[in-house]
Amino acid sequence: MNKPIPLLSLKDQYKSLRAAMHAAAKRVLDSGVFILGPEGRAFESEFAKAQGAAHAIGMASGTDALVLALKAVGVGPGDEVVVPTFTFIATATSVSTMGAVPVFADVDPRTLTLTAEAVEKALTPKTKAIVPVHIFGHPADMDPLVALAKSRGVKIVEDCAQAHLALYKGRGAGTVGDIGAFSFYPSKNLGAAGDAGMATTADAALADVCLELRNCGRPLKGATYHHPRVGYNSRLDELQAALLRVKLKKLASWTKKRRALAALYDKKLQGLPLRLPSLGDGGTQPSFHLYVVRSDRRDALAAFLKERGIGTGVYYPIPVHQQPAYKGLANGSKFPVAEEASRTVLALPMFPELTTGEVSRVCGAIHDFFKGN
Ligand SMILES: *Cc1c(COP(=O)(O)O)cnc(C)c1O
Repeated sequence: MNKPIPLLSLKDQYKSLRAAMHAAAKRVLDSGVFILGPEGRAFESEFAKAQGAAHAIGMASGTDALVLALKAVGVGPGDEVVVPTFTFIATATSVSTMGAVPVFADVDPRTLTLTAEAVEKALTPKTKAIVPVHIFGHPADMDPLVALAKSRGVKIVEDCAQAHLALYKGRGAGTVGDIGAFSFYPSKNLGAAGDAGMATTADAALADVCLELRNCGRPLKGATYHHPRVGYNSRLDELQAALLRVKLKKLASWTKKRRALAALYDKKLQGLPLRLPSLGDGGTQPSFHLYVVRSDRRDALAAFLKERGIGTGVYYPIPVHQQPAYKGLANGSKFPVAEEASRTVLALPMFPELTTGEVSRVCGAIHDFFKGN
């Protein structure tokens, strides 16, 4: 029996960075500075540069980055925020956390990202913001969304939790809308040893609001215990920042590797009754957080691959509007693309340390499945 091929493994990555990560952790422990110190500031500026953003503000998680980004652009109780129904539920719960109402919209059949046409149908006078999600690392088509948002006076918060170093027409994810929210959950393309997140923006005033919001509403300047606004505690700690700085140095080469593996999958899976993900074109380059194919026989294919020791995953099996948590909110609306995607999506193994030989084995097994059935 061949060695199993997991959907994701972080082991080899850790092995290769072990000494540098231990040194980074030791540096923080020896310093005695654990919150809002030099590591966090350095990571913010290094991440901003990597992503092509003017400002980056560390937060305690991707969810917090979304919540505080929404609050920073003015979303509050009673407002509506348009979100794709095909996403991880945190996109919608962040809106609910603000006391606002998530309004669901369908996604593009090819990229599974929010479309301007779908958003337009969901807009009402109460709409305050739109949250495109760069799902699996594929950037949403931002130009029409930005044009629509501008014409209606609503803000755009990009959910970049899966889109580190992804490019939309040559521009970094999280730099096209008003503000972007990134996650450094351990399994993300850039993952902490715990929870961490980041907001990015070109707007200096918005960046300052985020800096205050994440730190209990403390003003950036002026007396320490004067709080002009109601904030939160959502700071990115020094240990996580130091570890993330070690990994950030590798992110460009990891992303290149993911793109090469995606291209290899694409080549080897041609001609099968599968829908393959968009690889992007020209200046649009996904980050390939996940490589997701679609098949009407998804469950049988997953079971077949499991027999061969190959890990797969279903992201996401239930669109958000059908989640029990949001029962009643969708009002019986139908979102055919998202509903179909939830029945057919299957993520194949994808991580930078995956070898081309392993991709060949996965693809060989998929060919066998379709031959034998
Ligand atoms: C991971 C993720 C989040 C939440 O990030 P956390 O860091 O886990 O809070 C939000 N949206 C999407 C699309 C995600 O994948």
